[in-house]
Amino acid sequence: MLPTCIVRPWRLSLAAATFIVVANNSQLFGALFNILDTTSLTGFGFLLTLTLLMIVVLHAILMTLGVGRMLKVIVAITVITSAGLGYFVNEMGVVFDQEMLSNVADTVRERNTAEARELMSPPLIQHLLVFGIIPSLLLFFVRLSPRKPLYELRDRAVVLMLGILVVSVLGLSNYRYTTYFAVEHRDLRFKITPIFPLISLVKQSRDLLEVDLKFTNLSADATQHKPGKKRTVGIMVVGETARSDHFSLNGYAKATNPALGKEKGLLFIDATSCGTSTAYSVPCMFFLRGHKNYTPTLARAESNVLDVLTKAGVETIWIDNNSTCKHVCDRIENVNTRIRPDMSVSFDGEYDVGLVPLTEQYLDAKGPDLLIVLHMMGSHGPAYSNRYPAEFATFSPYCKKLSPNECSSDEVQNAYDNSIAYTDYVLEELIARLKEHSDEFDSFLFYASDHGESLGENGVYLHGLPYMLAPKSQTEVPIIVWLSPEYSISTGLDTEHTIVDSGQRLSHDNIPHTLLGLYGVQSEWYKADGDIFQSAYTQQ
Ligand SMILES: [Zn+2]
Repeated sequence: MLPTCIVRPWRLSLAAATFIVVANNSQLFGALFNILDTTSLTGFGFLLTLTLLMIVVLHAILMTLGVGRMLKVIVAITVITSAGLGYFVNEMGVVFDQEMLSNVADTVRERNTAEARELMSPPLIQHLLVFGIIPSLLLFFVRLSPRKPLYELRDRAVVLMLGILVVSVLGLSNYRYTTYFAVEHRDLRFKITPIFPLISLVKQSRDLLEVDLKFTNLSADATQHKPGKKRTVGIMVVGETARSDHFSLNGYAKATNPALGKEKGLLFIDATSCGTSTAYSVPCMFFLRGHKNYTPTLARAESNVLDVLTKAGVETIWIDNNSTCKHVCDRIENVNTRIRPDMSVSFDGEYDVGLVPLTEQYLDAKGPDLLIVLHMMGSHGPAYSNRYPAEFATFSPYCKKLSPNECSSDEVQNAYDNSIAYTDYVLEELIARLKEHSDEFDSFLFYASDHGESLGENGVYLHGLPYMLAPKSQTEVPIIVWLSPEYSISTGLDTEHTIVDSGQRLSHDNIPHTLLGLYGVQSEWYKADGDIFQSAYTQQ
């Protein structure tokens, strides 16, 4: 028989709320101690108000959801979940806003166990044990005191009212400072765990419920008008987590582009990304109406550039080695290397080079103009060293751990740079295959990364920070274009004459118009001034 301790439900809830707030907000409290003068009455008063407010809110949630015996279950779930969130917020600088939650939801929905496994690093497991699982096991020693429901309800209401009263009095007595702080240091709200993620969850659920998924067809008028008669075959590579300042093509000191660096007439553009995560950026890269009008839900409910190309007569295929196409390929032929390991060409699912033979079988087939979209694993973290075979590790020593925060900065940079150099190798392999077919068709390769990555700068790792807060490392991405000499002859377009030198900052918004331009597709959605090549061509 276990020794048990009889506890009133409100006391258990209050104790749990206090524990969760104290255990999972080290970043928030650290920042507050740095910013506030805690020896002054206003500074200390604000710290106390905020801490109590967090406890009261959490206590209110636990009391509302934890009816009767369910309280212990709800407390255990909240303690464990908060420990997991606390680890990512405090150790990795992650922000759980709506975008991040939709990413997490995608990983779960897509049963992306590989990604989940890579995130389950020993420090995370240790953190979950100490701050989540072991405290939850203590609940086995707790017995809730039996009370009549009416008394229980009264107790809960009284405790809650008292909490609200104390926080209100404190907040109002320090009103000016509280308002000033809430405006001046708004960003600190992202660190409030688990309340901020919870608010994001509520917002995200509300948005999803409000969605009208009636599909709008934007491709009706699309037609193709090409200068030459020769077939055009393009490969678009959707890169993953590649930041442009780590490409030697962009002036990075380490030789991360040994292969592409030798390619003649290659166009490199340091562009800005639409978002800071895969789930947000990937549909945006194919969205016809620009970053300003974009939401992932809207993108799902209307034609994208691949639909317009298909309507105009270009065959389009999506091959995914990352996760999924995030609904971009819903209406076109698509292959997912993770879901279909039984494909006719065997695929080494570990590395992106497996995409090359898969692509080849489409290059060998005859047909109309063709666009093959490859969604690669690229530099997906946190286990960068899993993205390439050991013999491709040019830069060493490199981090081999699942959590980059356990390695030195140099090791993390090396592990990441090796993955960029590996992408360089894969892209060059693809260009080599296109060159082999130069007699049969004109070709191009178009590469764009979905977002960048933080490698520990200012204690921030990975990606997915809210756009307004995100450092450039997460939003500045490479776009690389190679046009075959035959393509340039047929169309008159080349990498020397582009809008890159016009001074405007290029972004993911340029992708759909450039793709349409490369195939000579006319549509009301095609904007020449968004096309990297065509506008320069027409302005000549
Ligand atoms: Zn991504």
